Amino acid sequence: MGDITEVKKRLREARSVTVLTGAGVSAESGVPTFRGKDGLWRNYAPEDLATPEAFARDPSLVWEWYNMRREKLLGIEPNAAHMALVEMERKTEDFTLITQNVDGLHGRAGSGNLLELHGNIWKVRCTRCRSIEDNDDVPIDIPPYCATCGCILRPHIVWFGEMLHEDVLEAVYASLGRCEMMIVAGTSGIIQPAASFVAMAKRIGAHVVEINLEETPNSGVVDETILGKAGEVLPGLIDD
Ligand code: NAD
Ligand code: ZN
Repeated sequence: MGDITEVKKRLREARSVTVLTGAGVSAESGVPTFRGKDGLWRNYAPEDLATPEAFARDPSLVWEWYNMRREKLLGIEPNAAHMALVEMERKTEDFTLITQNVDGLHGRAGSGNLLELHGNIWKVRCTRCRSIEDNDDVPIDIPPYCATCGCILRPHIVWFGEMLHEDVLEAVYASLGRCEMMIVAGTSGIIQPAASFVAMAKRIGAHVVEINLEETPNSGVVDETILGKAGEVLPGLIDD
């Protein structure tokens, strides 16, 4: 169990801080994690829908699932964890927030230097001309078409089996190469390459703190694990 007073002191003194968040950080806003009880939809697992193959086979089915997920996000607000990270950014000279979440809640809370590793559910991308647009229709017309070239639009999401976007990854590696402290909150640490980010930060000598409800595969690698809710632990790290 981590010592909060010591973590707070390190955080105050760190010039460069990188935070990695996962679905657990949005759980207290009411967004289900994939491994939680709402993981299945019409007997499909996310791994059967969030793939380029599923979209090629049946784009309407995949878009229906995204419509359901968009619908569930209506009325959902950022929670205390999102707000604490905005405040942490304000207090830190060099701050980077990397998220695996696609719900857009960090941006809505006001985080500035934000790297959305897996994209954003409120953005669409053309499958031909690759132009990216904001789209917050609920429901979106199925299937949606590109206003420029008429081709089908897909969610601007990195699906299972796809590469992460190179520009995002470059910014991630740059931040991991200079951070003095890293906080990993609400992620199971299973999905690559996010799982390897902890090892990278450790390699350059950063102090790594994990916040989760339970121990994870990262727990043996990080410097300390604080067991608790992100919405309670994170605000506690920045109060003076
Ligand atoms: P995950 O692998 O990041 O696991 C969630 C983790 O959060 C678990 O380790 C759990 O113990 C922890 N957790 C749950 N509630 C918590 C809380 N209140 N405080 C602290 N920790 C808490 O997430 P996943 O659901 O398995 O999703 C995997 C991928 O699927 C993500 O990387 C993302 O791309 C996508 N996804 C995104 C969202 C979102 O945008 N909110 C939701 C579900 C899935
Ligand atoms: Zn197009």
